[in-house]
Amino acid sequence: MMIYLDYNATTPLCDAAREAMLPYLNRHFGNPSSVHAAGREARAAVDDARDRLAALLRVKPGEIIFNSGATESCNLGLLGLARSRSVGSLPAVASAKAGHIISNKAEHHAVVHAVEHLEDHEGFEVTWLNVSKTGIVDLDQLADSIRPETKLVSIMTANNETGVVQPMSEISRICRERGVLLHSDMVQAFGKFDIDVSLVDAASFASHKFYGPKGTGFLFLRSGLPIQPIMFGGAHENQRRPGTENVAGVAGMAAAAEWVSSDVNAERQREVELRDDFWRRIAKLFPDAQQNGDPIHRLGNTLNVSFIGVDSETMLMALDLEGVCASSGSACMVGSVRASHVLLAMGLPMESARSAIRFSLGRRTTAEEIADAADALARIAKRTKDAREYAVA
Ligand code: PLP
Repeated sequence: MMIYLDYNATTPLCDAAREAMLPYLNRHFGNPSSVHAAGREARAAVDDARDRLAALLRVKPGEIIFNSGATESCNLGLLGLARSRSVGSLPAVASAKAGHIISNKAEHHAVVHAVEHLEDHEGFEVTWLNVSKTGIVDLDQLADSIRPETKLVSIMTANNETGVVQPMSEISRICRERGVLLHSDMVQAFGKFDIDVSLVDAASFASHKFYGPKGTGFLFLRSGLPIQPIMFGGAHENQRRPGTENVAGVAGMAAAAEWVSSDVNAERQREVELRDDFWRRIAKLFPDAQQNGDPIHRLGNTLNVSFIGVDSETMLMALDLEGVCASSGSACMVGSVRASHVLLAMGLPMESARSAIRFSLGRRTTAEEIADAADALARIAKRTKDAREYAVA
């Protein structure tokens, strides 16, 4: 038995995506840059995927830059926009401040480390916004931090660890009123609720978070905005991202995006009910357990729980032995014993941060799986209690 409750780490490929990909893994293997018939077939697939994604997001096809996923999208969005908007920002003259960037302490490392790179190596000054105890960005601090040299603000729409959803309309209004560009990591939001890309100037997406293939994604970039490429090579993607397109990948991504968008609200409601049922069962089994993240402004599928007194690694291993796949903080941190920077930014005590587990539900999660996962936790709770009593005796 395997119960997969780690959909924020990745999702299984949906049938629609698999079917859309197969022709480009078999017969239609051409390079979209080739001018012959085989190339034209592949080019048509890439163009079609771009058109369909653009239609879903209500943007222009030319505003979509295909690439390898969210990490690359965040890097391109941040480095590319920051560099193109700073005068004299080349590392060689980094002693002169290249400009100012604002981000949030609870971002994914794809943003945190890209911004830190700009700060440490390219002369940018950075303001890291605080988040509240429930994980919401401090809007007053955002408004107060924007200054004439601010080049870019980057705030994620939904957090991967806690599911906390930021007030993007307000954030957008604050940035627009002050004429500052806004990038948002929308990786965890797409397919989980209705997102509004028109609120931002750039946004990052990863196909494997919405039932498409891994290793493909895109950056939405408002037309007319200059961006410096972060890699060098061919003239692909309108000179903004070199490299032969992942034809099967983008075909699968577009199909997955359509599939996942078809019933977002009904599916969200279904997952909320399963998640809340799971939490009620956990709270009975572990009276000291705490839910982390805003109870209202949160993705419908995400449950972040601190099992006070049981460290995350121990709990994850116990869950794994029971066949339950969950995660502690971001998947990229698995194997590391560091407490989550997201939970620490929310001011959680170290003990709570070190005992946090993220459960994230998805399209294939059933009520039966939730009941079975709760039974597994009941066995773990009993073993933990027995072990404690043994230690005291
Ligand atoms: N941003 C968020 C919010 C994520 O959850 C992830 C993946 O965990 C990423 C960025 C990076 O995505 P990828 O590893 O597909 O590049």
